[in-house]
Formats: sequence, structure tokens, C-alpha cells
Amino acid sequence: MLRNRAGGPPACFSRSRLLFFFLLLLLVLPAEAGLKIRSDYSPHNRTRERRRSTTYIILHTTEGGAKGSLTKLKKYGEAHYLVDRNGEVVRIIHRDRIAMHAGRSMWNGQTNIDKVSIGIEMVGYHNKPLTKSQKTALRELLRQLQTIYKIPDSRVLPHSMVAYGRPNRWHRVAHRGRKRCGMLMAGDELRRELGLTSRPSYDPDVRAGRLKVADPYLEKVLFTPKRSTPAPPRRTTSPRPTPAPATGRNVIARGRSAWDIAREQYNASTTVYTFPDGTTKRGDQIRSWSRIPAGTQVSVKGNTVEQQSSAERVQVIGRDGSTAGEIAGAEVAKESTIYFFPNGSVKQGNQMSSDDFRRLARGTQMLVGYTYGGVISANRKAFDICGPRWNLATTFYRRPNGQILAGDKINERNIPIGTMVFYQP
Ligand SMILES: [Zn+2]
Repeated sequence: MLRNRAGGPPACFSRSRLLFFFLLLLLVLPAEAGLKIRSDYSPHNRTRERRRSTTYIILHTTEGGAKGSLTKLKKYGEAHYLVDRNGEVVRIIHRDRIAMHAGRSMWNGQTNIDKVSIGIEMVGYHNKPLTKSQKTALRELLRQLQTIYKIPDSRVLPHSMVAYGRPNRWHRVAHRGRKRCGMLMAGDELRRELGLTSRPSYDPDVRAGRLKVADPYLEKVLFTPKRSTPAPPRRTTSPRPTPAPATGRNVIARGRSAWDIAREQYNASTTVYTFPDGTTKRGDQIRSWSRIPAGTQVSVKGNTVEQQSSAERVQVIGRDGSTAGEIAGAEVAKESTIYFFPNGSVKQGNQMSSDDFRRLARGTQMLVGYTYGGVISANRKAFDICGPRWNLATTFYRRPNGQILAGDKINERNIPIGTMVFYQP
């Protein structure tokens, strides 16, 4: 139907529309009014499930600049809000839906904190002060969200407080200290400025023996009452302060291991080690971690401290966990957990026999939380299988030759027939 430019819409149309917009305004206005806020939604926004409950607000620091961080957060749907240095707030995932921001996480025995929390990313670093505008904006954003979801101050937590790491060669058991993200937002003075009057005084998972402390400095920052925001490690009185990861302190030395610098990126193909003799190796090429000489420089790619790369979504038994259970938790036998065996066969969790589980070998690749869309054929293209998700970095293609490629790396004209498609529901 063509619209009459001069005459405008018919009266009945305009009246009902006006009423509709008025009601909509009433619904929308009280939510985030009083903030400089705009929407720049992730392509994942419409497909993410709604949360059944909202118990926590998790505070993050991007560990990188605004532009690059926003691009990545949008690409993977990894935050609800971003608060820029000038106080501008950006909506990335609608606050009622699930954003993938907390990664491997646990608080008070509850895992998968993404399903019960809102994630806010502050542009900046875990150990550098927020700007005045950021504090004003975050204070107001928290006030509004805490009112909407009835979240007490003691449940507004820095990401580093809930993130935890799987056993690795430096820490033989599951541990707190996987990252320092958002660490400064445990400081009493800053919390007061943000209108928060309480915070946890101890780590319930460490106390219950579920986790060990792998970063004593972080532990001290998070749980020791302080008069001011945390000082950088060198100024603490902690007996053995752990050096800060990455930024400027990226050289292996006595008491500073590859893990201290790169955390879980230590063996990633994107982490590059430059040895004192000038030769280089990627993290995934290093076999003998105890033989890395002091003076080796470690370069962790871009923002990887905070964002997950698509390569990390394809998890590998023997690298990301020693068993399927360590990687998928309660979801090991679910249809949405996919196993790619080294021999080339592919199974969903609900197709796995107990023999399959017993024989799971190192090198088996896994996707957790995925829908198997089917196989590409002559008259069934990627778009027919997963719609606009076809080129997302979180969609995966498993070619007949066994190669697994992310949607943002695939050439649509060159997807072989027989390629399997997996996407996030
Ligand atoms: Zn974080």
C-alpha cells in the first residue's frame, strides 16, 4: 500500500497508533531514564533465551578500548551493557535475555552464572580507576536494574569474584583466579561511590573447599576491607604478590609464569612466545612448560583477556578439561553437547553410550549448548539451515574432511555438500 504523503495517515490509524506509542513510552521510560543510553544490539539479541531468574549483576572491565570492545561484545553477545569512558551506556543484549559474559563461573556452588545474571562491561582495565562520568552512569544503571530485579548490593559482584579455572599444569585443582576482570569494583570506596553498601566478605566456594585460591593478590583485593581502591600489586604488603597479567608485565621471570601472564590463553595458538634468542613459538606449539627461559616475552592477542575467541568455543578434551564432564558439566549427555571424535565421527550427547564416554580420547573436540542444524546439500544452503546466523562467529561448520570452521571464517560459495552446521539456539 502506498502512503499518501500530503494527506497523512487516516485518522483511525493515527489515534490507535498514538495510543500504542504512548503506552509503549510508559512501559519503556521508567526503565533506563536518566541515562545517556543507546541501543546497538548484538545479532544474537533476538535469539537469546529469556532468563528465568536474575540473582546477580556482574561487573566487568573490557581490558581494551571502547571501539574494539564493543565490536567483540556485539559479535558474540557477551554483555548486556557497555559503559564508555564518557558515561554513555550501550545496550548490547536486552536485559531480560541471556548474555554470555561470565564464562566458567561459580558462586556459592551455583555454576553457569550467565543464566541468572546481568553483565555490565566498563571500558577500562581491572586495576585502573573509572572516570567520573562512568561512575555516575554505572551508579544510575545499577540503581535501576537493582530495583527492577530486586538485587541486593551484596550480589553486585566483579567478574573475577565468580570466574574460576579448571585444573592446569600450575594449579592442579579447580581454582579461583582465572581472571582479574572488574577487580577494582570490589573496593569499598568505589562501591560507596556507586551506591553499594555491602559486598561479600569471603569466598563461599573457597570456604566450602570447592575451589582453591590461585591468585592470592586477587583474593586480598576482593575480600579484605580497604579504605581505598586497590593499589597495584607492587605496593601491597602481601607476602607473595602475584604480578598482574599481560599489560607491560609480559616477560617470564622467577615467580612469573606463562599462566600468570596469559592465564587460560597460555597454550592458545594466538599467544606468542618470543624467546631470549629471538625465536618464537605459538602457545599450542610448546610442549615443555617448565623449560621456558626467564626473559621470554609473552604476547597475548588483543582483548583476549576478556573476550572469548571462537576457537575457545570448540573445546578440546586434554586441553580445556581432562574429561567431558569437566568441560560440559551437567550437560555431558544432552542433545546440545556435540562430540567430534578424532576418528571423524560426530555424536550428540544423547547418542553417546556409556562405552563412548569411557573411551573418550584426548583431542576429542566439543561444542556445548549447540543445536545441530543438519547437513548442507545441493538444495539446502547454510541460510536455509540457520537463517541469518549463518555467518556468525558462534556458528560452526564441520566439513566432510573433519575441519571445523566458524561462520565468520567461511566462504558461503565454498561450503562442501555434506558439511554439518551447528549454531547457538
Ligand atoms: Zn569479565
